[in-house]
Amino acid sequence: MLNGKIIKGIGGFYYVDTENGLYECRARGIFRKQKVTPLVGDRVSISVVDEETKKGVVEEIDKRDTELIRPPIANVDKALIVFAIKNPNPNLSLLDRFIVLAEKENLEIVIIFTKADLDEEDNLEELKRIYESTGYKVIPVSNKTKLNIDRIKDELRENVVVFAGPSGVGKSSLLNEIDSKFELQTGEVSEKIKRGKHTTRHAELLKLECGGMVADTPGFSSLTLDDIQETELKEYFIEFEDFDDCKFGSRCIHENEPSCSVKEAVESGEISKERYDSYIQLLREIRQGKRRY
Ligand code: GDP
Ligand code: ZN
Repeated sequence: MLNGKIIKGIGGFYYVDTENGLYECRARGIFRKQKVTPLVGDRVSISVVDEETKKGVVEEIDKRDTELIRPPIANVDKALIVFAIKNPNPNLSLLDRFIVLAEKENLEIVIIFTKADLDEEDNLEELKRIYESTGYKVIPVSNKTKLNIDRIKDELRENVVVFAGPSGVGKSSLLNEIDSKFELQTGEVSEKIKRGKHTTRHAELLKLECGGMVADTPGFSSLTLDDIQETELKEYFIEFEDFDDCKFGSRCIHENEPSCSVKEAVESGEISKERYDSYIQLLREIRQGKRRY
């Protein structure tokens, strides 16, 4: 048996990356009986059927750490959430929505602000103030001046990541900077990333020179909060955790309740007002059950 990771799945074939190379595998029938579908990103054991033609069979699937629905990928470690400092200006309420979705999936989160070369009014300082105080790692990047491209490579190393963020912020440009082999595929990859043609095709993991793998489609292409409960949302605003002294204890959703320690922290500036406003906005959206994207 050989250990590996499924990096691509097409029409019942699974392409498994192993230390001996790539194998085209079928899955054991038992999985179908158990209603288990192998997923891209699954860590698997395969038996080799034919070494010459690199054919095998998926025998076992390891327990998944995480499981994304869109794109459908197992064991993603990290979401790199990408917004531009300018052109387009960052929509913080949309950024907070991405953060909520990634927190729900239990991913590590790194926030990247691209186009740092366009920062003239210290917008970056303001963005850092908000998100670093929240507890996230914030990395400013420029694909133009190559600022911090190495730091992004460090984030990717040994990890399976998804890039997430609106179009036009420089995700494909960044991918090109990270790994020169994407140069050839730029059109293809960036088109995929841009148009997010994920619904009709299968997700795929791309191996990077710096180690690590990246999904070829952006994470959280569906931005709906339909799966999140009103009482659950506060868990995904991680900075609220430090303020657990509300009069109504764990039942407090930090909205209209009296003696709410989260609201007090917003008053005193310990929690960012922008983040709290996003929270209230998302809370109301969930309550109304309306889809905004
Ligand atoms: P995507 O839609 O997120 O994949 O964004 P692209 O990578 O296609 O970039 C959108 C536009 O922003 C292109 O015109 C890029 O040349 C430009 N761009 C990307 N990164 C940077 C950057 O760091 N600085 C500047 N000034 N422009 C950038
Ligand atoms: Zn409260």
